[in-house]
Amino acid sequence: AKESGRNNYQFFTTELNVRAQHRYALEKNLRRALADQEFLVYYQPKICLKTSRIVGAEALIRWQMPDIGIIAPNEFIPISEEIGLILPIGRWVLEQACRQTRLWRETLAPDLVVSVNISPRQFQDPGLSKFIQQALDEAGLPAQGLQLEITEGLLMGEADMLLPVFNAIKDLGVSISLDDFGTGFSSLSYLQRFPIDNLKIDRSFIRDIPENHDSVILTNAIIAMANALGMSVTAEGVEKADQMFFLADSGCQQMQGYYFSRPVPVDEFEKLLAANKA
Ligand code: C2E
Ligand code: CA
Ligand code: CA
Ligand code: CA
Repeated sequence: AKESGRNNYQFFTTELNVRAQHRYALEKNLRRALADQEFLVYYQPKICLKTSRIVGAEALIRWQMPDIGIIAPNEFIPISEEIGLILPIGRWVLEQACRQTRLWRETLAPDLVVSVNISPRQFQDPGLSKFIQQALDEAGLPAQGLQLEITEGLLMGEADMLLPVFNAIKDLGVSISLDDFGTGFSSLSYLQRFPIDNLKIDRSFIRDIPENHDSVILTNAIIAMANALGMSVTAEGVEKADQMFFLADSGCQQMQGYYFSRPVPVDEFEKLLAANKA
């Protein structure tokens, strides 16, 4: 027993070492990726359920690693948050998205709104609203062309400290969407206290409609509540026609999901916009 205990211990420390080394390598790679501009922004269309037209796009970061390929954000955003690298990465995404959207509004889609994901760590950055204003100015994008997506989880904890940040952003004219709504267990009273323009219903609710009775009830309730409070609703993760029809009937304003399009690179999004215009 003693012997195996020691082996376990050795195994454990080796495993920790491997993980620490892996993490260190990832950190180093991420810093290099930022310097060498290995990141890309993909765009996923948001569709108006009334007109079936593209009205917006969510900017979603990708990491194009040389010799390896495209890496999804779940593989590197959490660690970037931990080591603070999310601040420069987040600023880069915001700048890219603002510039790109200005171009699209000039040519193919005058009212296009781009949504950029903002992590909780970025929200704690006192320079956030000033940087947003700068990014809009430099890109020549009007504030109505930009929306920020923040997760519901941000509102748990010291939410009161965040109210001035929300208000500063709203004063710029930028809209705010509450992402992954329904998963964060935040108090519903926040919907009243915070200047939120849009609720984004989490994919986990959309996945099981219209078959699952509970999901239908919850989705209907979220849409009714949001609309009654003056917020629009976006459904994410729409993969099937049935889901789209259900949502259109329920008073949901926008949908986003593989049913219409996956997130795509700039040139492919342009083709979608061109087809949308015709
Ligand atoms: P999210 O903000 O909830 O983004 C939606 C995710 O759902 C995207 O994954 C998108 O590709 C995926 N998705 C869209 N439609 C469907 C569908 O119909 N079915 C399914 N199964 N999935 C769908 P992605 O691009 O891998 O991004 C994952 C997460 O990474 C995002 O979740 C967001 O939290 C984070 N993220 C992405 N880009 C950024 C960024 O620029 N900054 C920050 N802070 N976070 C980002
Ligand atoms: Ca999002
Ligand atoms: Ca989401
Ligand atoms: Ca999500």
